[in-house]
Amino acid sequence: MVPAPPQSASQAFSRGIRLKCPMCGAGRLYSGLITMHKNCAACGFHFERAPGYFLGSTYINYGVTTLLTTWIYMVLRFGFAVSKSVLIPALATFCVIFPVVFFRYARSLWLSFDCYFDRTGAMEGVSEGEKSKDKKL
Ligand SMILES: [Zn+2]
Repeated sequence: MVPAPPQSASQAFSRGIRLKCPMCGAGRLYSGLITMHKNCAACGFHFERAPGYFLGSTYINYGVTTLLTTWIYMVLRFGFAVSKSVLIPALATFCVIFPVVFFRYARSLWLSFDCYFDRTGAMEGVSEGEKSKDKKL
């Protein structure tokens, strides 16, 4: 399989949410709970494209957490008349736990959509992965 950036936003989302390599869709991003592979085992794509690259994933994590919290509050408060004294502590707890659980997915989605939008830069990551493979040999 020749590695290529995702062809559509839905393919980028699919590869991202399944924690798969954005270039081939086959290799796994994580070797453990939070430990990422440096390169894709299937195509050699180098995942961390620059130092601090995954800092941008916090935008996704924060955005999804904020949207979900707001949506849940609106639905439960105005749709089901749940009291604020129940909702606020529950949603505060949600705001602490959800970003930790979503951390891996935020990174994966960030990487996948970055490869989708920056196709030329993503192809450079494939050759970088090949170079780091050569260094090990
Ligand atoms: Zn790959």
